[in-house]
Amino acid sequence: MLTLNLETAWAEFLNFVKTKQSVVEYTNWLAPIRVLKSTEKGIVLSVPNIFVQEYLLENYTKELANFFTPNNDGSLPLFFIIEEPDEQTVTVEEPAADVPTEKDTVFDLRLNRNYTFEDFIEGPSNQFVKSAAIGVAMRPGKTYNPLFIHGGVGLGKTHLLHSIGHFIHQNNKKLKIQCITTEGFINDLVEHLKSKSIDQMKRFYRTLDVLLVDDIQFLEGRGNFEEEFSQTFEALINQGKQIVITSDKPPSQLRLSERLTARMEWGLVANIGVPDLETRVAIVQHKAEKKGMTIPSSIAFFIAEHIFSNVRQLEGAINRLGAYCRMCGMDVTQELVEKTLGEMLQFVPKKRITVDSILKSVASMFNVRVNDLKSTSRTKEIAFPRQVAMYLAKELINESLVKLASSFGGKTHSTLLHSWTKIKKQMENDDKLKRQIVMTKQNLEI
Ligand code: ADP
Ligand code: MG
Repeated sequence: MLTLNLETAWAEFLNFVKTKQSVVEYTNWLAPIRVLKSTEKGIVLSVPNIFVQEYLLENYTKELANFFTPNNDGSLPLFFIIEEPDEQTVTVEEPAADVPTEKDTVFDLRLNRNYTFEDFIEGPSNQFVKSAAIGVAMRPGKTYNPLFIHGGVGLGKTHLLHSIGHFIHQNNKKLKIQCITTEGFINDLVEHLKSKSIDQMKRFYRTLDVLLVDDIQFLEGRGNFEEEFSQTFEALINQGKQIVITSDKPPSQLRLSERLTARMEWGLVANIGVPDLETRVAIVQHKAEKKGMTIPSSIAFFIAEHIFSNVRQLEGAINRLGAYCRMCGMDVTQELVEKTLGEMLQFVPKKRITVDSILKSVASMFNVRVNDLKSTSRTKEIAFPRQVAMYLAKELINESLVKLASSFGGKTHSTLLHSWTKIKKQMENDDKLKRQIVMTKQNLEI
C-alpha cells in the first residue's frame, strides 16, 4: 500500500503547489512531470530535462519533505528519469544508454537504434576499427574472428558493436544475433542455474550465428562464469560463427585465463582511440543535427576544443545545450554555451604554437635536425620537411607571411606560400603525408 500512498502524496503536493504558483509557472515547470511508478524505495518521476528536475528540487525541497518522508540520510525518496518529449530515453549526463530502445519483431535484438555505422563519425583514431567492424558485418564469421575492440570509456565501443548487429540484421534477417553485456551474460547464467534450465541456455547460445559481447572486462575474477563463457566462445568459434568482443583493455591485460586470452587474440585486436579535434567537431555537428539543433561552427569548435577526452561527455553537452535552448527558446550562442556547460568544459592552458615548436615537431617526425630545417640546404631529405613546416606555420600561426617566412632563416613570403600550396595539394592524394601531418599536429598540441 506504501506505493499507492506515494502517488497520492505526489497528487497532493501538486494541488498544494497550484495554490502557490502562477498558472504559467505551474504549466511550465510542474505539469510536465509525470509519475512513472512508485516502488518501496520511492517514487520515480519522468522529467523532460534536467532543468525541470533542478527547478523542482531548488524551489520545493522543503515542501516536498512535508509530503514525502525523507530517508534517514535526509534525502527525499524521489528518483528522476529524463525523458525527452519525443519519447526517446536520454539522460543528460550520460546520453544514449546502452539499453535497446526498440523491440525487434523477429526476436529481441537488444540493440540501441542510434548506434549505427552511418551515425559513427570517422577520424584517424577510429578509422581502422570501423573498417574492421564493417568487414566483419559484411561477412560474419569469414574475416576476423573474433574481432576484439578495446579502448577507453565513452569512445564508441558499444556504438560499433551495435552497428555490427544492425548491419548484419538488415542484410540477413535469418541470422541469429545475440548482443549482450558481460553482466547480462552472467545474470542469464545465474537465472538459468536457479531455474535448472542451464542446458536450455547453453543450447540457445550455441545455436547463435553472431555473438556480440560488450565489456568483457567484467568477466575478470568471475571464475565459473569465465569457464562457461569460454565453452560458449569455443563452441561458436569452432563452428565459424562470428564473435565480437569489446573491452576497456587489450586481451593481454585482462586478468582472465591464458587460454581464453589467447583465443581472444586469434582474430583481430583493434584499438579505438580518443578522437582528434577535427573528428570531435564533426561529432558535435552530427549529434546536434540529429537533434534538430543548429550550432554555428565556431561554437561546435569551441565545445570540441574544451571537451576532449570522451565522446559521451561531448554528447552529454549537446543534450544539455539542446534541452536548455528548447526550453528557453534561445539560439546557441557562445555566452549560452559557457553558461549551460560551465563545469563540463575542460580548460587546458593552451600551448602557444610557434615556428620553433613546429620545427621541433617536424624534425622529430621526419628524423632530421632543427638546424638543418633552418639551413639553406636544398637536399630533398631536408627541403621536404621544411616545406611541411612552412605549411603548418601558415595553417596554425596567425601571423603575416613575411614574418613567418623570416623565421625560417630569412626565406621570402612567396617561398612560404609556394610550400604551403605544394604540400596542401600533395596531401590530397598522399595518405602517408596526411597521417604524418596529423601526428605532427598532435605532437604540437600535447
Ligand atoms: P564506450 O562503449 O566505448 O564506453 P559508447 O559506444 O557507449 O562508448 O559511446 C558513448 C557515446 O558516444 C555514444 O552515445 C556514442 O554514440 C557516442 N560516440 C562515440 N564515438 C562516436 C563516433 N565516432 N561518432 C559518433 N558518436 C560517437
Ligand atoms: Mg560501452
